[in-house]
Amino acid sequence: SQIHMPPSSALQDDKEYVGFATLPNQVHRKSVKKGFDFTLMVAGESGLGKSTLVNSLFLTDMYRDRKLLNAEERITQTVEITKHVVDIEEKGVKLRLTIVDTPGFGEAVNNTECWKPVADYIDQQFEQYFRDESGLNRKNIQDNRVHCCLYFISPFGHGLRPLDVEFMRALHQRVNIVPILAKADTLTPSEVERKKSKIREEIERYGIRIYQFPECDSDEDEDFKLQDQALKESIPFAVIGSNMVVEAKGRRVRGRLYPWGIVEVENPAHCDFVKLRTMLVKTHMQDLKDVTRETHYENYRAQCIQSMTRMVVKERNRKYGGTRHKCPPC
Ligand code: GDP
Repeated sequence: SQIHMPPSSALQDDKEYVGFATLPNQVHRKSVKKGFDFTLMVAGESGLGKSTLVNSLFLTDMYRDRKLLNAEERITQTVEITKHVVDIEEKGVKLRLTIVDTPGFGEAVNNTECWKPVADYIDQQFEQYFRDESGLNRKNIQDNRVHCCLYFISPFGHGLRPLDVEFMRALHQRVNIVPILAKADTLTPSEVERKKSKIREEIERYGIRIYQFPECDSDEDEDFKLQDQALKESIPFAVIGSNMVVEAKGRRVRGRLYPWGIVEVENPAHCDFVKLRTMLVKTHMQDLKDVTRETHYENYRAQCIQSMTRMVVKERNRKYGGTRHKCPPC
């Protein structure tokens, strides 16, 4: 026997209307009230335009108090991780945005394991969350888990460098990696295409698992499907950043002014900046958070519990009858 659903028109009928159709509105109101948070990490060699891009993405100056190091300071610098927090509001919706920066990355003379502090940072946030979650006060947990890592790849190399491969492989189990081809204005369109496909090929060859966009629902409209397809095909996003507003054909736009012309950050014919921003903010922010929670954090949590259980068993064996498997003293 099957359960027969009333036709959807019955919803309009007062008799059949229970009221749970308002659930989405209730959720909506509650989450708007609470506000949203998102933590974005930027990584990659220094000088590739990470801070400029972040400012362009969120139309803020996140790095007012940044101190630039000279060459000598940079030689001895270890990877230092900094956090910038801004509260932005748009049409009554509040977003607390945390940017985690990894300055000096890959700059030292010896760069072996320079991914280590970054991996440790991500793990520490998981650890803190795990502790808070299993502690007494679970109501007001501050969630500092990193939801996405934009990894900047130099436009001047031939594809990925060993450091890039090492970094991404060390981090892909911990965080959603979105690869970025930096400073795309230094390349011609055909160079961009060639670099992109080389990088995609190498990501595949070295078994790097970058963030996978979820499958598009089959009932979405055609436009949405095409847009989704285009998004997936533009990885790694080729971006241009700028802290300047310039005038192009009578309009004021964020761009870079060269003797031979203007490159516009938000012009889709010039780079993938808008695609990246749409993905991060408009279409995939929630999915990035879900994957962080359901996959990356869950992996960490499972490992933690496993090693805790192992320790308990070992301790118990040591205390009571742990000698069972050992040879009795002769
Ligand atoms: P970070 O060290 O990775 O944070 O890099 P910055 O954002 O400080 O940028 C380093 C330099 O590159 C600055 O002089 C920027 O003006 C320049 N820059 C940033 N973005 C771009 C870009 O998209 N194209 C070009 N050509 N230069 C850029």
